[in-house]
Parts: sequence; C-alpha cells; structure tokens
Amino acid sequence: MNRKAAQDSRSNSDLSQKATGLLQRVRVVLINTTHPGNIGAAARAMKVMGMHNLHLVTPKLFPHADATALASGADDILQHATVHSSLESALTGCGLVLGTSARLRSLAMPQLDARAAAQKAFAEAERHDVALLFGRERYGLTNDEMQRCHALVNIPADPGYSSLNLAQAVQILAYELHMAGLANAGYSLDALDWEPVDGNQMELFYVHLEQTLKDILFLNPAQPRKLMMRLRRLFNRARPDQNEMNILRGILTAAQAGKEASEASPDQSTGS
Ligand code: SAH
Repeated sequence: MNRKAAQDSRSNSDLSQKATGLLQRVRVVLINTTHPGNIGAAARAMKVMGMHNLHLVTPKLFPHADATALASGADDILQHATVHSSLESALTGCGLVLGTSARLRSLAMPQLDARAAAQKAFAEAERHDVALLFGRERYGLTNDEMQRCHALVNIPADPGYSSLNLAQAVQILAYELHMAGLANAGYSLDALDWEPVDGNQMELFYVHLEQTLKDILFLNPAQPRKLMMRLRRLFNRARPDQNEMNILRGILTAAQAGKEASEASPDQSTGS
C-alpha cells in the first residue's frame, strides 16, 4: 500500500458502521440516581463515545434543568432516554447484564475489569442487547440488583478510594466500549502510514553502508566494534520506505564517488 492509500484506509477506519450499530445495542442503565446533574453528565459521557441508549430506573429528579445543563450538547440522549419504574422493565430483551461496582465483592459471581467487560459487551452485542448497570451515588447497587447480573464490573482504582463519580464511571465504560469498537474496525493510532521496504532491501542497504563506511575510512575492519549492529538498530527503528531508501542509497553512492574522486586528484581535495 502506498502512503496515500494507507492514509485513506486510516481515515476510513473510525468506527465502522457495524461497530456503530453494535454500540447501540449496549444500553446504559442508571438506577435510582439522586443528582440529575449526574444523569446529564452521563448522557454527555455516552454521546462522545458514540453511545445513545440511556435507560433510567426511578430517577429521583428527571427531567431536570441540571440534567440538561450538564448534558451540554447531549440533551438529545436525555430526550430519548427511557424512564422505568422497575429494573426488570429496563432489562427487557438483554441477554447480558453487567453490574458496575466500586468495590469488589465476595460474591460467587464472575468479576471483570472495565476493559474486559467492554470487550465482552461489544462481542455479545452481535447476538443480543446488553445492559450496563450503574448504582446509586450513595450506596451503589443492592445485593438483589447484583443478583440479576451475569457479571460484576470494576474499574480498577486506588484501593483506598475507589469510588468514582457516577458519570465518570459511565465515561470509562463508554470509552472502553468505543475502543473495543475501534479495535474491531481495525483502527490503531500505532498503525504505520507508510510502507517500509522489505528485508532484502534492508540487507542490500547494510552491505552498501558497511562498504561505504570502510571506503571513507570511518569503519576500521580491524576494529569494527559494534558499529554495524548499532546502525542496524537505528535504521530498523526508522523502517525507511522506498523513497527514503533511494535517498540513503544515493548518499552512499555519492560518498563513495566523492572518496574515489578525491583519491584520483588529491591536490583538489586539499584545495592547493
Ligand atoms: N458508594 C458507592 C459507590 C457509588 S458510586 C459504593 O461504594 O458502592 C456510583 C456508581 O458509580 C456505582 O454504583 C457504580 O455503578 C459506579 N462506580 C463508581 N466507581 C466505580 C468503580 N471503581 N468501578 C465500577 N463502577 C464504579
């Protein structure tokens, strides 16, 4: 792939349509939230990560001006949020229910960290709707609510102070889901956007480099030390593409020719 094609494929590889669709099958369920501002902030946290499906179980105050204010540009999520009078109703149609908890509990049920949970949620969204449950600000999820979950999810934090603000916990889960979607679409910031030359070309280059360094008396064959090894490490890190390789080979050829020319007419090289 040339550089242009590589760039095109990278800009197209934001969330794929499929990943966007799968994220819509993951719902955020906030249970019995006290502060309406947290509902608004959670909506915003979801929207920036491409999630839109918000369910509220018996919120203390909703709709509310604080929710709208903290949602900022995500008030459409609030307008479309579904308010339920029971948890059962909020979980209808969900084949996977994950309950988030600030504390790891000694319950006999699977516990996942946020990343593993998001990957599982994303993978299962191919098959059925998924719910992520978030508890009350003051005391989280009740035991009864946890028992409706297939697994508990913890955001690893400082063991001495591990309780995040509700909307911030939503943000982390939404981010991890978004990342799971990006990974699924083959996106990585780390991806090369150029095409490095192959190993054969690198080997020919190293032969040429070594010979040139001998010719210009930089490398003493009697005492090579680790020079070639270090230079290999340097150029292998750079992973030159074809254009860059042509330039490097051109420099080597010019250096060799310069050395030959100065040997052929030593007067010129001293300027006398
Ligand atoms: N005082 C409560 C914490 C409530 S925080 C308790 O100790 O359980 C409100 C909600 O945010 C939690 O119910 C949970 O849904 C989420 N949350 C906060 N911190 C979290 C963490 N470290 N991991 C997972 N969820 C967390």
